[in-house]
Amino acid sequence: MQISIDNVQRTLMAGNSTSIGQRLAEIRRDIAAAERRFGRQPGSVHLLAVSKTQPVAAIREACAHGQQAFGESYLQEAAAKQAQLADTPIEWHFIGPIQANKTKSIAAGFDWVHSVDRRRVAERLSRQRPEQLQPLNVLLQGNISGETSKSGVTPDEVPALAAAVAELPRLRLRGLMCIPAPCDDFERQRIPFRRLRELFEALREQGYDLDTLSMGMSGDLEAAIAEGATIVRLGTAIFGPRPSPDSNKGR
Ligand SMILES: *Cc1c(COP(=O)(O)O)cnc(C)c1O
Repeated sequence: MQISIDNVQRTLMAGNSTSIGQRLAEIRRDIAAAERRFGRQPGSVHLLAVSKTQPVAAIREACAHGQQAFGESYLQEAAAKQAQLADTPIEWHFIGPIQANKTKSIAAGFDWVHSVDRRRVAERLSRQRPEQLQPLNVLLQGNISGETSKSGVTPDEVPALAAAVAELPRLRLRGLMCIPAPCDDFERQRIPFRRLRELFEALREQGYDLDTLSMGMSGDLEAAIAEGATIVRLGTAIFGPRPSPDSNKGR
């Protein structure tokens, strides 16, 4: 599917205050259509709004249009926003690379972590998860396609990491996540997603109680839904292009 960045940009530049709501509605229709097209159960694909680098006002607007799950990648930024959004029912997902010395604020401030890729990080998250909170929902990040990011465990390391994480008392292992290298071709987009689903199914056959496959972003969500995604992580498609240091220079 082609997301038209031009349209997003135009809408943002026009300062149209309903644009996030309109885009959310469009995306929900796209997801429902993909569920039908690929024989997925209606409502089985959940939308995670990736709000990294986006201002609190944009998150509030998405919230006002019924979006409840938000994903952040940078801890300091996330903590500042979470403090300002404490009055909302937002469910926070951490989706960025994890430094072992930063696990405490992830364990305390998030409901889900998508990017667990080593045992030491998992052990720290479990130890640091505050008593009064539910166990932290955890996904293991797989590195399936020799991805641009160095994060993620290779497929052959997934079973051992799953076994270790499943033992940890304050974590709840829910499934797998991946971030394949960007690619424009639908059939080729499906390949890493299919591999991740096969890994997921193999774990389920071994008896793990998993229900979540986090895969698919603004550029490849249909391929991910075709291959079994239960969470798609969309940023640009909802909020428009992320403000970057470069794009701020000219203002
Ligand atoms: C930024 C990010 C996304 C969203 O990317 P878009 O292309 O803006 O939809 C999804 N997942 C992860 C892990 C990200 O870091």
